[in-house]
Amino acid sequence: MAGTPDGGESFDIVLDMDLSKRTSELADRNLALLDEHGVTAMDVLGSVGSGKTTLIDGMVARLKHRRRVAVIAGDITTRIDAERIEVQGVPVVQIQTGGACHLDGELVRRALDRLDLDALDLIIIENVGNLICPAAFPVGAHRRLLVLSVTEGPYMAVKHPIMVRQADLAVVNKIDLADAMEVDVERLAADVRGVNPEIAVVATCARSGEGVDELLAALEL
Ligand code: MG
Ligand code: ZN
Repeated sequence: MAGTPDGGESFDIVLDMDLSKRTSELADRNLALLDEHGVTAMDVLGSVGSGKTTLIDGMVARLKHRRRVAVIAGDITTRIDAERIEVQGVPVVQIQTGGACHLDGELVRRALDRLDLDALDLIIIENVGNLICPAAFPVGAHRRLLVLSVTEGPYMAVKHPIMVRQADLAVVNKIDLADAMEVDVERLAADVRGVNPEIAVVATCARSGEGVDELLAALEL
């Protein structure tokens, strides 16, 4: 850029700031839309294979009799997760990101437009499976639920501090495999709290349903 000593570098920074501003504006717009309709949205974040879909499936099974719940399922290319949850008879909107490794406010807005918000109390959003860039892309959710599983090893919390700091609640999943993985669940939970002292941590085995009621209680759902 003319007139700036560092040329392209400062141009890049300007672009990044615009993107970040636009990203949070879109998220805020989604929140306003949700609030207008009295709907709470929860963004569920975790690596591929951490058990997000199984956990959401278990939450929906318990919640659908007392809350009007819908699911937005983000996935890079497949409909596998969406089809699993659709069996429960709740509205499911699939977002195929077509290669993008995170959801953003724009994609979620398009999904919201396909739901009857007046007929809902709660929307659970399954974000794309990774813990890096979704931290930089708020989607417009009231809560962020972080899913870590013991199969990812003992250092997930300390390796993803930005995500841990942003989350309202963390799940340590697959606790039935903790011994086999030689992961200390208490230690992992303590690491999460070390990064984010405000956070509640719930241990679950989503596959068997262990801990899912405790999770819903912690979420006041
Ligand atoms: Mg999934
Ligand atoms: Zn991404």
